[in-house]
Amino acid sequence: MSRSVFLIGAGPGDPELMTLKAARALGKADVVLIDDLVSRGCLAHARSDAKVIEVGKRGGCKATPQEFIERLMVQYARQGKIVARLKGGDPFIFGRGGEELAALRAAGIDVEVIPGITAGIGAPATLGIPVTHRDVARGVIFVTGHTKDGTEPDWPALARTGLTLVIYMGITRLPEITAALLQSGMSADTLACAIENGTLRNQRHVIAPLALLPRSAAALSSPAIIVVGDVVRFARMAAAQPHAKAA
Ligand code: SAH
Repeated sequence: MSRSVFLIGAGPGDPELMTLKAARALGKADVVLIDDLVSRGCLAHARSDAKVIEVGKRGGCKATPQEFIERLMVQYARQGKIVARLKGGDPFIFGRGGEELAALRAAGIDVEVIPGITAGIGAPATLGIPVTHRDVARGVIFVTGHTKDGTEPDWPALARTGLTLVIYMGITRLPEITAALLQSGMSADTLACAIENGTLRNQRHVIAPLALLPRSAAALSSPAIIVVGDVVRFARMAAAQPHAKAA
């Protein structure tokens, strides 16, 4: 079945972690809308005559407003173009993919969603952290450390679950998040890990007991994933660098 928009997850960073399906869809596109966090190496799969539009904060001058991105996709699709919307990780994990899908559907446009490996799984995996190792964690929670309206997740409730916490967009608020988890009764010794630029050649990470993580990870910046829980003890302390191609 032919689609006019592909909503594609490009994976966590390393272009080789993009799926075959994503690469094939990208190769059909007349127009590619690409986010900041997507490695430019992924564009190797796009047609050389494809129009590439950077719609992220870092690519353009400012963050391209979400409605503008949605309007662009609708406009090109209505012109009969095949559009690839390339998003970091998985399009539906903190990626506004749900909003984009709804906008396209409301405009009567046919969309195929192609999932990707989310950073919260891909980055810990490079260090050998199994986020649900059955001996120590019965599950994993993906949570954002930064919300649009400034409200906090229910940290005490999350801490009580005993599940692995994988925190997106939390690195700049690490001291506040850590304090909230400790106040929620989480042990100061709980192992935690922060991973910057996960799966890329310039990946850096820090492992420390929760109480010390803000100090240990002070030099790390966005994009970074924070993993909190006993599963961190499975990390290889001197992890091999992932085999990333150019970012
Ligand atoms: N849809 C994306 C997440 C978008 S939100 C996904 O599924 O991965 C952006 C946040 O994702 C960043 O602030 C950071 O917390 C995380 N992130 C994305 N890429 C990352 C990477 N290569 N390494 C570490 N964290 C990353």
